[in-house]
This record gives sequence, structure tokens and C-alpha cells, in this order.
Amino acid sequence: MTQYVYRFGGGVSDGGKGDRNLLGGKGANLAEMASIGLPVPPGFTISTDFCAVYYDEGGQFPQALRDEVATGLAHIESVTGKTFGNPADPLLVSVRSGARASMPGMMDTVLNLGLNDETVEGLANTSEDARFAWDSYRRFIQMYADVVLELDHGAFEEALEIAKEDQGFTLDTELSADDLKALVAEYKGLVEKQWGKPFPQDVHDQLWGAVGAVFGSWQSERAKVYRRLNDIPGGWGTAVNIQAMVFGNMGDTSATGVAFTRDPSKGDRAYYGEFLINAQGEDVVAGIRTPQYLTKTAREDAGAKPASMEEAMPEVYGQLADVFDTLENHYRDMQDIEFTVEKTKLWMLQTRSGKRTAKAALKIAVDMANEGLITREEAILRIDPMALDQLLHPTLDPKAHRDVLTKGLPASPGAASGSVVFDADTAEKKAADGVAVILVRTETSPEDIHGMHAAKGILTARGGMTSHAAVVARGMGRPCVSGAGTLSIDAKAKIMRCGGREVKEGDLLTIDGTTGEVMIGAVATVQPELSGDFATLMVWADEVRRLKVRANAETPEDCRVAREFGAEGVGLCRTEHMFFESSRITNVRQMILATDEKGRRVALEKLLPEQRKDFTEILEVMAGLPVTIRLLDPPLHEFLPHEEAEFAEVATAAGIDVDTLKRRAAELHEFNPMLGHRGCRLGVTYPEIYEMQARAIFEAAVDVAEKSGAAPIPEVMIPLVATRRELELMKAVVDKAAQAVFAEKGRTIEYLVGTMIELPRAALRAGDIAEVGEFFSFGTNDLTQTTLGVSRDDASRFLGAYVEQGIYAKDPFVSIDVEGVGELIEIAAERGRQTRPAIKLGICGEHGGDPASIAFCEKVGLDYVSASPYRVPIARLAAAQAALSKK
Ligand code: PEP
Ligand code: MG
Repeated sequence: MTQYVYRFGGGVSDGGKGDRNLLGGKGANLAEMASIGLPVPPGFTISTDFCAVYYDEGGQFPQALRDEVATGLAHIESVTGKTFGNPADPLLVSVRSGARASMPGMMDTVLNLGLNDETVEGLANTSEDARFAWDSYRRFIQMYADVVLELDHGAFEEALEIAKEDQGFTLDTELSADDLKALVAEYKGLVEKQWGKPFPQDVHDQLWGAVGAVFGSWQSERAKVYRRLNDIPGGWGTAVNIQAMVFGNMGDTSATGVAFTRDPSKGDRAYYGEFLINAQGEDVVAGIRTPQYLTKTAREDAGAKPASMEEAMPEVYGQLADVFDTLENHYRDMQDIEFTVEKTKLWMLQTRSGKRTAKAALKIAVDMANEGLITREEAILRIDPMALDQLLHPTLDPKAHRDVLTKGLPASPGAASGSVVFDADTAEKKAADGVAVILVRTETSPEDIHGMHAAKGILTARGGMTSHAAVVARGMGRPCVSGAGTLSIDAKAKIMRCGGREVKEGDLLTIDGTTGEVMIGAVATVQPELSGDFATLMVWADEVRRLKVRANAETPEDCRVAREFGAEGVGLCRTEHMFFESSRITNVRQMILATDEKGRRVALEKLLPEQRKDFTEILEVMAGLPVTIRLLDPPLHEFLPHEEAEFAEVATAAGIDVDTLKRRAAELHEFNPMLGHRGCRLGVTYPEIYEMQARAIFEAAVDVAEKSGAAPIPEVMIPLVATRRELELMKAVVDKAAQAVFAEKGRTIEYLVGTMIELPRAALRAGDIAEVGEFFSFGTNDLTQTTLGVSRDDASRFLGAYVEQGIYAKDPFVSIDVEGVGELIEIAAERGRQTRPAIKLGICGEHGGDPASIAFCEKVGLDYVSASPYRVPIARLAAAQAALSKK
């Protein structure tokens, strides 16, 4: 029989940190903390295995599980000495979700479970605090009604507000025991009215209701969206943790808080967190009351008055600090912790690896390696390469003018400008139309997740550094300013006010998540500094990686950025983009529309000096490094004129009449241009085009070699080759141009001629193609398109559904389809090497910047990957990780 229930606490630990898949992150870590002697309230976990059973059984609980849960409850009862449902001294429990990967705020939680009309009196007696007992009961009903019964929670909040207003109170804590008792009666009335049945008094019914709700929340819309955004498989399921309640709301010697063992925003080695005296856990996370700082230094730095925990509760704080150190040493990573102090006794409620910004991730990894807590190799493996993206983008120019509207908390670093929106749906819609948006909310909730993802930045009026907005934004790498308390937001009217100024939907706003500043308008930005921890980690990564990293770049500017980011060459310079420049397009059009070779040559003569200039600048910037230049690839009609004026301009330049030109343009029309007259087929039919391009390359290369002494190494690449013969013909054109230029200039330089492998036939016939080609570069954009028979330009319409249904694990245009396209690459590499053992192999499709695809390239033993300039550091790190993982 499968075991579903695992106990922890009171000297018992049925599981531990190795059981994450089974117990979920929370359950495994609770068991682990208990096993190393930390104070954890006793409890038990219903494993993730049961989640699938729950759905298979249509939400029913088999007797075997009920028996195991009874044993679990007996364990809690024996450790606490309290009994579940006992009117004299009741045991209360929390019921919480906990999946394998943490999903902050996405899933359901119920606290104070086990209270009813009788046990509330028992709790009042044993705690000698009637106010506390009734407050716990009203919180329980409110949460249960929301999470389990799914009733309208607005009605409950309204009743609470009215109860406070009636007495002229502003804080919940001002309500007396009698006020709360009256509120409980009102809440029960609301439940009965909305649900049609009285609030459940049987504590076991309460428990099973809550367990069902937590398992049910795995399939909630917001959980599904979160999983999709974070690549978490739906099949993992959640576990449910049932644990004895401890109370942070038992007066002024009680408190609750959340903490990180290091700063999750900057990575500094300083305890970081917030706590609230006389409160329950959700009060901190929900951002309802403004929490106090954990440490004296943090309080002083922020210029805040209310005492820090270090000052208010020095003894418990000391214990907590010891626990932080124990946990960091035990887990060898920065921890995110939840704790409660019940009448001066410290309890640990959760620990997990803390989410952090890319900047913090780098600093923590480098510091921990230097502290000797982890190895350098582990430090390299700790950083998600894609997270580096956050660091590679511009920050606000310190010299730019800032019209500061207000200041909030620097919740997630980075700067963002965009047009203001006040709800998540609008954020998503506008972002889909290509508008950069800043999502402004009073506070965010898990329902806002899609809008937060779509936004460039997030601004909230309420909530602290560990509020939902802050945690989620840091996880997503979105800049966020939270708790900008001077903002008054009217989301319905789509307007916010601050200090007599108004900002409406659509107005431009800039936020700086590093300083907390909120500015009117868009503020200028500057390029990031790539020094410090970033540089250190990159050096470590470069020491272990085998794959070289090049850039896809076609302007001198792109090449400069790429070199700064550490590119070791250009893997793809697409020459067609140079053709689109306004100064050349007329000559290009004249070339295309010419009806014979003579006409084409006239136009090509005019293009030659321009192309030579392009290549000269690029080869200068990349001096000493290989530069792969690809000859013209796209179907010619892409360059055709559309407007009358454009036709007229070309007609004048070429000396032909407009009607003839239009007829010629119509002749060039293709039904399926992606599979039409493009790639080397252009060179085969109009060799003079490739001849001009090759000449421009060699003239430039010889010039640069002459000037700088550091001879560039051009690699001339022929696109869309399917057969050996095509490459042979094109190589002859290139070689002839090279010999001509070398003879004219009296100087020879080294160069290679190779081909892209981007058609299945080319991959299969790589053995004979390698007889001619000196290098292969896998063009996986076209190779994916032609292998899957899926148009790269139309795929987005249906590929989403394919990924959702698991037909492809990921979008195959983003991450290599290892089974299909990958097999062709393996075949081509093997057959190419058989013919030419030293053949140079690289990849220049978009996949060259995708970490999973880079791991595949390492496995196949390619020589280099080529990615867009901003992805170069990502590729360097991913290549290092791939090399380490292969060991
Ligand atoms: C490719 O097909 O992968 C490639 C790099 O070429 P392009 O994207 O220009 O077709
Ligand atoms: Mg291509």
C-alpha cells in the first residue's frame, strides 16, 4: 500500500530534504528542519503522489488516506498535548500547499482550523485571552469562506470595515473581544446566506474541506498561469502540510515575520526581513499593516522609527540569527524563512532557497565560493543564465533630468519606463500590441500575475519588501517599486493622484526599482557596468567552458557590443540587412529588377563600395577574430518597391519605364517564397551578386590587414545549400573573386568558404558537402522550419497549443527539438567529420543563445555557438554549465 502521510516535529521526521518531489519543498524542508533540531511545530505532509489520486478519484478521499491522516493527527496531539476538536483545550492546525517548486502566493492556505462555537471558548480559557480567541475564529471563518467555500470575500471585508467604523477605529487590533464575537456572528450569517448552509462546526469536516481546497488549487487558473510562465509541469502536483498552529497574535510578546539570510535584492551578507508584533503570518505578506525592520542597521538606514526586532525582542532575535546561520550552513544557500514568536518562544514555519535578483544571485554565488561554503563550479551552476539578461540592459542615466513624483521601497532593481495601466488585463492587452507598460496597483495579488509578466515594471502603493508584488517581481526580474504610500490610486477611474498631480492611464512613467523613485515621463538610460561579481563569475565560467561563443551581428555597433560582452568572433553577419539602408535600396532594386546580367552588373557596381565599407568597419572592430559573412539569402521580392514614388525613383536610376519595371516585379512574385528563389539559388542563377559580395569582403579584408597588421579571418558562408554541387559552384565564384582581389592588391589573406546546414538534405548529405565546405554553421531557424514542416513566420498561431498539449515540450524555434532537428545535427556533424576531420562546426540559429540548446551543442561537440550580442554572456555561462554537467 502506498504511504501518503509523512510526520515531522516532536523528535520525529519521516522525510527530509531529499524528498522534495514527494513532500513538496515546504514539507521536505519542515521535516529537514525538525531533523536538525530546529523548533518546528509538529505536523504531517500528505504527499504529492496523492494529488494525482485526488484528481483521479474525482475529489474523494479513500479510507486508507483517512486512516493515515488520523495517525498524523494523533502525532500532533501527542506532541502538543492538545486534542483536535476538544472544547476544553483544542488543537488548531494550519493547512498549506507545498509543491516541488515554490509558487509564492499561487496556492491556498487555511489557518486556525479547528475552531468552532465550542472550541473558541476553550481557546479563550487556555490562552486567558478572549480577544485573541475570537479574533482567531473570525480570521478562520473569513479565510475558510474565501478559500474553501469560495464565497465573495468582499462582503466579509466590508463587515470588518463597518465594525471598525462604527466605533471610530482604524486598526483591527482596536476591536474588543465582544466586537469580534459580534463580527463572528455576522460572518456566520454571511456564510449561511451565500452558501445556503451553516458554517461547518465539525472540525473533521473543516479539515477535509481545507485539504480538498488545497489540492483543488493546483488546477486554479492563477496556478496554471504561474506554471506556464515558470516551466513547471502540471503533473508534479502539490503536497498538503497540516501543522499545529503557533500564534504570533497572542499579545506584545508574540510576533510573526519573514526573513532572508542575505539581501535578496543586492545580495549583501546581511540578515534581511520584516516582522510584525501581535500579528499572524498573512498580515506581513498581504501588506495590510506596514511591517517593522528586522535589524537595527536596516531600520537606521531607512530612517524608520518603530523598533527593529533586534531592539524590541533582543533575546529571540539572537536565537533567530543563530537559526539563520545554521540553515545557511546546512543548505549551503541563501534561505527565505518564515517564523513566528509565540509568547517569546521562537518557531520556524518554513525555509526554502530564497528567490533573488540576478545581481543578488551573482553576488551570493561569488561570495559563497569565496567564503568556502560552495565551490566555484557550484557557483557557476547556481546562476540561471537567462537571469543575466536583467543585468545586461540599460539603467537610468544618472545625468538625466528626473521629475520625481514620489518614492516607494526599492523592491526589485532595474529601471523601466512605459505607459501607465491600472489593471492586469489591460497590461497584457497593451503589451501584446507592443506597448511598454508600467502596471500600477494599490497592491498586487496572485490574480495579477499575467499583467505583471506583461509589464516592464510594477508600482504599488501598499506592501513591503516581502509583499506579493516584491517577491514575484524579483522572481520575474521585473523592476518594482512597492509601498509608495503617498499615491492614491483609483483603478476604476484609471487615475492616480500624488501631491496635487494626476497621472492617467496611458501617461508615461518611469520607475527605478533600485532607488524606489517614481518619475513622470521617460528618463534616459545608460549601458550597464559589466564589472564586479559579474566579471568574476564570467572569468570562472570562461575557465571551464569548451564551446566558443560568437555573436550574430551585422553592424559595427552590434559588433562592438558583442566584443564587450566577450564574443570571440562573428558567427553570422547577415548581409541582406545592409541592403535595406535608405541610401542603397534604390540601387538594390535596380539590381533586382534588371532584366539581364548587364543591367544587374551596372547596379552591383554601385553597391560594391558601400558593401566594402560595411565589411571594413566590421572587420576592424573584430580585428584578429573570425567573422562569418553570409552571402545574400532572402527572396528578392522582399526588396521590391511598393509605392508609386519608389517605382518612379528606380525607373529613373535604371533608365527604364515604370510599366516595364512593374511587369518585372510581378514576375518575381512567389507563392511560397521561404521555399522559393532564395539562398544559394540566387547565387546559382545570378552569380554576379555573390561575386560582388565576395569581392567587397576580400577588398575590405586586404585593406584592414594592410592598415592594422592584425589580419582579419573572413569566413564566407553560402546559405540554404542542399547539394554538394551548389556549394562547389558557389565556392568557385568566391575563390575566383578572392584570387582576382589578391592579384590586384598584391597581398593574400587567409579565408574559409563554408556553408550553412539548414535543410534536411544538407544534413543527410553532409559527408559529400564537406568535401567542398571548410566549415558548417547550423542554421537551426530554417532547419527547424524545414524539418518540422512548420513555417517560422506562422508558427505562433498554433504552436502555443502544441506546447500546452505537450506535443513539443518547448517552442522548437526557441529551444532545439533535440529528437528531430537534433538528430539531423548529430548526423551532419558525424558525416561532416568523417570526410573532413578538422571541419569547424557552429550554430547560428536563434538556438545559439538558448541554454538548453547550448547544452545540446556541447553534447554534440560543436566548436562554437553564435548568439545575438546581448545573449553572449548568457551563452558563455550556459556553455560553462554544459561543460560542467557533462563531466
Ligand atoms: C537560420 O536559418 O537559422 C539562420 C541563421 O538564417 P536566417 O535566420 O537568416 O534564415
Ligand atoms: Mg536561414
